[in-house]
Amino acid sequence: MSCLFCKIAEGVIPSTPIFEDELSYAFADINPKAPVHILIIPREHIPSLVGTDQSKRVLLGHLLWAAAEIARDKGLGNGYRIVVNTGEDGGQTVGHLHLHLLGGRAMSWPPG
Ligand code: AMP
Ligand code: ZN
Repeated sequence: MSCLFCKIAEGVIPSTPIFEDELSYAFADINPKAPVHILIIPREHIPSLVGTDQSKRVLLGHLLWAAAEIARDKGLGNGYRIVVNTGEDGGQTVGHLHLHLLGGRAMSWPPG
């Protein structure tokens, strides 16, 4: 098992935990791009959104719900951004599906 985020979810590689349940794990991004920058991952190894089929519908919804729960807990009532970089063109650098939760400052649009 060589996946960085699988190792983080299993505690083999240390991280700063934010939230966890049976399906997901959330931890602080090591290189934050905003005052709040949290990564939400499925415990199951899913490489990216590319290739997900209907068997992942519930899990994908769960990840979005977890992100919203974390945002509430962090007091981000004024808004935030959720980003899912997907594949090479999407700028994904770690091959385990993850949601970025970014908040604590105003975001610009469009992203680069
Ligand atoms: P992406 O470019 O969308 O694949 O995002 C990968 C994210 O993982 C980046 O924001 C990195 O800062 C973050 N990252 C990489 N290694 C670690 C780590 N060991 N702990 C926490 N975050 C990490
Ligand atoms: Zn993985």
